[in-house]
Amino acid sequence: MALDNASAMWVPVCCGRVMRCNMFRQAGGGAYAALVCTLCNKNITLEQEPLATANNFGEGSTVLSLIGSPKPPKTERRKSFEEAGPDDPTL
Ligand SMILES: [Zn+2]
Repeated sequence: MALDNASAMWVPVCCGRVMRCNMFRQAGGGAYAALVCTLCNKNITLEQEPLATANNFGEGSTVLSLIGSPKPPKTERRKSFEEAGPDDPTL
């Protein structure tokens, strides 16, 4: 079940749950966002940049459409890649 990147969105996950996203306005204009895990309090800051600067991030860079929800569903995510390490005997 492969989605092509153009129609897919990416979901930030930590501790098996969708991370919360809060947006903040900056005094000088612009905005930034913080992804927070409600279980372990991991915090990831997202800064805005014009799409046109994407080239500056080097080869292989991809622009991801990330969902930022202040109240994501609390349901547990299905098992993800974290479960399938290199030692997974089923591989
Ligand atoms: Zn977490």
